[in-house]
Amino acid sequence: MAGEAQDDCLFCKIVEGHIPATIVRETETTVAFRDINPQAPTHVLVIPKAHYRDAATLAAAAPELAADVLRETQAVADEDKLEAYRVVFNTGSGAGQTVWHAHAHVLGGRGLEWPPG
Ligand code: 5GP
Ligand code: ZN
Repeated sequence: MAGEAQDDCLFCKIVEGHIPATIVRETETTVAFRDINPQAPTHVLVIPKAHYRDAATLAAAAPELAADVLRETQAVADEDKLEAYRVVFNTGSGAGQTVWHAHAHVLGGRGLEWPPG
């Protein structure tokens, strides 16, 4: 069910502390940790602690929680003193989503081209 921890979900395991991660921020409802395969000097993932399969599901089912995630992306950018940064929600496998627990990528610390690949 939406919101409940999933046994087979990597990011639920990070939330529960069963898989280690370099956590940079935590709130009552969110966790932010460094991506294991960084694509920029700052590459942090911000996730809701509750499980939603993607950003669209999160936004529809729990808009306040989606707002918490978005607020935390800005807090991460502030902590890493990023003057410019990009927030990405890959949604669907065709867009590169590989982990089915909603997450925002916060990317910065280098020039970022547009359009993205
Ligand atoms: P997606 O491709 O679904 O948008 O993003 C998933 C991200 O999770 C990828 O950037 C990938 O590098 C990252 N990732 C996958 N497994 C782990 C892990 O065990 N720990 C951390 N910190 N990041 C992970
Ligand atoms: Zn999950």
